[in-house]
Amino acid sequence: MNKNRFNIYEQCPSLIAGPCSAESHEQLMTTAIKLKEQGCEWFRAGIWKPRTRPGGFEGIGLPALEWLKDVRKKTHMKIGCEVANHEQCTIALASNIDFIWIGARTTSDPFAVQDIADCLRLSNKTYDDLTVIIKNPSSIDYDLWLGAIERIYNAGIKKIIACFRGFKTYNDSKYRNEPIWDILLRLQNEHPEIPIIIDPSHIAGVRELIPEIIQMSKFEYGFDNFMIESHYDPSIALTDASQQLTPQAMFELLNSFDHISNSYYTHSNDEDDLNTYRKEIDKIDIKLIDLLCDRIDICKKIGKYKKDHNIVIYDSKRWNTLLSNLLKYVDTKTNNDKQLNHLVNIIWNEIHSTSIEEQKH
Ligand code: PEP
Ligand code: MN
Repeated sequence: MNKNRFNIYEQCPSLIAGPCSAESHEQLMTTAIKLKEQGCEWFRAGIWKPRTRPGGFEGIGLPALEWLKDVRKKTHMKIGCEVANHEQCTIALASNIDFIWIGARTTSDPFAVQDIADCLRLSNKTYDDLTVIIKNPSSIDYDLWLGAIERIYNAGIKKIIACFRGFKTYNDSKYRNEPIWDILLRLQNEHPEIPIIIDPSHIAGVRELIPEIIQMSKFEYGFDNFMIESHYDPSIALTDASQQLTPQAMFELLNSFDHISNSYYTHSNDEDDLNTYRKEIDKIDIKLIDLLCDRIDICKKIGKYKKDHNIVIYDSKRWNTLLSNLLKYVDTKTNNDKQLNHLVNIIWNEIHSTSIEEQKH
């Protein structure tokens, strides 16, 4: 394979954040200031919104570009929006925008991508400072993604970033767009020179699933750069309200992961094994927490069921059977490890009392 075929010289930002859509001057400015205060340097906002079906909010268009420029003036962040055709690209470039992105629906259409590439190539200017972010197409098609990158690269753009936002599938998936990591790993393997940013917002579709996507990206696949939708008040967002995070929630989340990696991993080469083991432990701990959350969700459902059917919450027979089965399992699995038996006993007693409390709500 043709490794390093692309002569790309973008330093991928670790974070691009901003609302799904630009809705008002106030919304952009309030969100941007909060993001900048915590160190974000790249600000995104969609001003033309490609809606899958007609009738929704389709973006403010041109006036929102002026708001974006105000954001840049006030915060000195880089500003960017999505473009889906020649005309939008021309308008965005005329505003001297710092970055544009090509959305999943557009990447799916080689005519549209070529139209944007032509806009970049045919205008008399060169866009040495412009970054173009190319999202994966909606459908699971590696070649369409690479093809879009090639078209933009052939138009003379050297600052390119590939953005992974998952794929539309018809399987039952808890995610809005399934993160088929193999496709991303193939891109990384065949073209390690292309910087990669992960969009957990459009993968997850709901903010509750964003942490596990970030955790998977960082700790299972080693991707550390994120484009995240953030709105100062997601409850009033006109698009993608369920997946946006307030700036504060987003930074708390990102910092919680930084804390894991900074405090636990050492940086000396002699300690590579230790780092590997610690990373394994961190992954397992996060999985345990995810499982605990899943367990609590089910307890809540049980609580509701019991209430609706007038069933008492505490059922000693059920609890004794559950615990004794678990302890038998521990004994068989560990060949009677007394310490682990003791530990599981303590932990499950705690889990059980929390479950009982949860069911009371
Ligand atoms: C977006 O980032 O606002 C967007 C529309 O994303 P996607 O193209 O990934 O659906
Ligand atoms: Mn969105």
